[in-house]
Amino acid sequence: MGAKIGCHIPAAGGYAAMVERALSIGADTFQYFTRNPRGGAVRAYDGADVQMALQGMRESNMTAIVAHAPYTLNPCAVNPRARSFAQQAFCDDLQRLQEFPMALYNLHPGCHVGQGIAEGLDRLVEFLRDNVPEDCQTVILLETMAGKGSELGGDFSQLRYVIDRVPAHVRLGVCLDTCHVFDAGYDVRDFGAVLDAFDREIGLARLKVIHINDSMNPLGSRKDRHAKLGEGEIGWAAFVTIAREERVAGLPLILETPTPFEERAEEIARLRAAATGTN
Ligand code: FE
Ligand code: FE
Ligand code: ZN
Repeated sequence: MGAKIGCHIPAAGGYAAMVERALSIGADTFQYFTRNPRGGAVRAYDGADVQMALQGMRESNMTAIVAHAPYTLNPCAVNPRARSFAQQAFCDDLQRLQEFPMALYNLHPGCHVGQGIAEGLDRLVEFLRDNVPEDCQTVILLETMAGKGSELGGDFSQLRYVIDRVPAHVRLGVCLDTCHVFDAGYDVRDFGAVLDAFDREIGLARLKVIHINDSMNPLGSRKDRHAKLGEGEIGWAAFVTIAREERVAGLPLILETPTPFEERAEEIARLRAAATGTN
């Protein structure tokens, strides 16, 4: 199966417009924010727009999209206001995603803000247990994080802890962000070794999406500043290896690099050529 390559797309204009925008730059998958990362406001539901988007996806063989929760959604918050925003946004997102059977819902595991890692992880387990409906079909992805500040998810074992404790109806996968894991101390320049560690600690079957970003900072820096592929501390060679790695073949590779939209087509084409060995 060829690599599915896409990028983060501005959500403006509705679902059908996003699909069209993704196709116009040669993407066969894409990611969008379910709502403005800074606030809770979300566009009104438009059934006709959703149907048009689904049709556009079917016609173009776009079989996976990634809906990214706002990064202000902190699923392990104890502060009542933050917790109620998290619950409301999460439930509303999941409800809308019922319309998109091919959508994966990407979530940051959150920040423990002083509770400590163990408490934070238990809050996250509770949050998923209490807010994912019994009949939810959407696969929820926990994203690997850089571990800056009180961020959870900077270590594969933390994700494993959560996966092991949620009830059976919560379908959990993992999104591996190359910049984040590198900043957390996993050297993705030896991608095979990172996948081995992932397989040991979480299980490769849980890996559903790769966020493909270079990092502005060195290994283990816990910073989370994305760079364009080949312009950061990870370097281009690693991305060629990732794009050709058998064990992740067919997974959506989503670019979240600081690349202007006008240059996306070129960036995607370059990575696609690397994946197929034509450059
Ligand atoms: Fe993210
Ligand atoms: Fe990411
Ligand atoms: Zn990031």
